Amino acid sequence: MTARASGSSARKMPAVLFGSRTDVGCVRDHNEDSLIVAPPLFAVADGMGGHAAGEVASEIAVNTLARTAPDRPDTEGLCHAVIASNRAVIEAATEKGREGMGCTLTAAILESERLAIAQVGDSRAYLLHQGRMQQLTRDHSLMEEMIEAGELTPEEARVHPQRSVITRALGSDPNMQPDLYELNVSAGDRLILCSDGLSTMLEDPEIESIAKKTRDPQRCASVLVNEAIAAGGYDNVTVIVLDVAGNAAKRERKTRRKGRIWAVVLVIALLSAVAGVCYAGYAYSQHTAYLADVDGKVAVYQGTPDTVLGLPLSHLDRITDINVSDLEPGTANRLQQGTIRVDDMDAANDLVDTYQQNIDSSKKTTTSSSASGNTTNGSTTSGNTSSSNTNSGTTTTTTAVSTGASA
Ligand code: MN
Repeated sequence: MTARASGSSARKMPAVLFGSRTDVGCVRDHNEDSLIVAPPLFAVADGMGGHAAGEVASEIAVNTLARTAPDRPDTEGLCHAVIASNRAVIEAATEKGREGMGCTLTAAILESERLAIAQVGDSRAYLLHQGRMQQLTRDHSLMEEMIEAGELTPEEARVHPQRSVITRALGSDPNMQPDLYELNVSAGDRLILCSDGLSTMLEDPEIESIAKKTRDPQRCASVLVNEAIAAGGYDNVTVIVLDVAGNAAKRERKTRRKGRIWAVVLVIALLSAVAGVCYAGYAYSQHTAYLADVDGKVAVYQGTPDTVLGLPLSHLDRITDINVSDLEPGTANRLQQGTIRVDDMDAANDLVDTYQQNIDSSKKTTTSSSASGNTTNGSTTSGNTSSSNTNSGTTTTTTAVSTGASA
């Protein structure tokens, strides 16, 4: 008995979920069935011949098949692989003690929704499609021939003494050709490969019922083998259950992958947009300027007085010599209460210049008005000094007027 790759475990493959089990049964002393589970290839072989030769034959058959089968559902390639397996068994049968050994072979290659099957003997392939199970393969057995000839009913065949006689096998005829089947299956379909240890112990409706209600493919394979043993287990029993995920799973994976790519693109786009807005905001903030009161002096800042996440959006350009208290009361008040925003640094510098000029002119006005006062006072109190005072006063007044006019 050979069980390659996975004898008894369900594994997730790209687009196919499967399970398998083989058992010696209740009557035989060794298991002459072999199976191979090596996606996309799946096969069951049932050996015959005395002294464990059947075991050898089925093992040679599946091993040769695994080595020579194509890796896609190509019936021609699969046919060549089965012919190679036949030759290998024939060759091995020339050894002493192995005369007359042979085996059945039911092989399937499933890729996505395409299925290729090669069939020799009475192991079977069933397909469960939309809740209905049908036998895909035709048995190469005496019973099948008699049923087709109308000489027997399937019920009579089940208990016929020659029910295990097969009419085609690997190991005897070098010109043996397998039956080949190529078909499209659908996502949700279930393929069952089995040796006659299952199909002679359980009737098709029982197999169908178990296959329909047992969701997990590995559990389904186990339950089918258990039921065949419970029904008597007269023969070795081997079952492979294959669930077709088909293109749906492929499409789903593709969609999911696409979704992930789009999510990444979206995140990048969002981050870029946020970064762009931040940069634009920062660039704008750095373009503007404002004036503020720093320790009683007028200070010029580049940027805006706002902060983002606690970070200032401005920096101090310079602190002028202008005292805030020297400014017009309204302007001084605004600076003491907050800031005065302007469009850009040029506007800030212009404004500072204007403040300076206003202060200068108001100082001169103040000087001039106090000088006039002295003159008036001087003229009324002291005649001696009135002449010089008048002169100086006149000069000052003229300057003040001229300054006032220009301001
Ligand atoms: Mn058998």
